Amino acid sequence: MDKDIKDLKVLIDSDTLEKRIIALADEINSYYEKNYNNEPLNLICVLRGAVMFFSQLSKYLKMPIKMEFVSLSSYGDSIKSSGKIKTINLALPNFNNENVLVVEDIVDTGLTLDFLMKFIKHNCASKDLKLAVLFDKKCARKYDVNPDFSAFETDDKFIVGFGLDYMGYYRNLNYIGYFD
Ligand code: 5GP
Repeated sequence: MDKDIKDLKVLIDSDTLEKRIIALADEINSYYEKNYNNEPLNLICVLRGAVMFFSQLSKYLKMPIKMEFVSLSSYGDSIKSSGKIKTINLALPNFNNENVLVVEDIVDTGLTLDFLMKFIKHNCASKDLKLAVLFDKKCARKYDVNPDFSAFETDDKFIVGFGLDYMGYYRNLNYIGYFD
């Protein structure tokens, strides 16, 4: 691999991540309590990048939760979007008019989520379909995707850690870092 962990700079430490995710969970709880009186919620984890955020966030949600997993990729081993989506697993049930919250690591150009949100809307009988992301990279947006819940905004840096990878590595870090 051409990048070394000792060149990694800390962007967000684990304490800050944890506190912000708890605050975001409070925001999500309030929304569903106020609008849906805590009806059951289907949480969709977009693998692999959202794995840490998804597990952390779900621990603080108060309504009855069911979990689903899809696997999509638009980056491959590069640090730029390939502009094409690779769908590895898109097996989702019919949600029978229940609420759905998609949980993703980062929205960049918006290609992946534009595809996924439209797919769910047209194929899965969801009621209120919402999107929660750990990072919103607004400056890179090319598709009309607007997260309903977002923990942090970030600029055009390529970040790793807490689920986000470079060539498959660094997902296990408990903080967010970047290479200069
Ligand atoms: P989009 O389809 O919005 O262009 O890209 C979304 C996907 O690209 C994310 O789910 C993530 O896997 C990857 N991605 C976008 N920006 C970054 C980044 O800064 N770091 C990492 N590790 N992956 C990113």
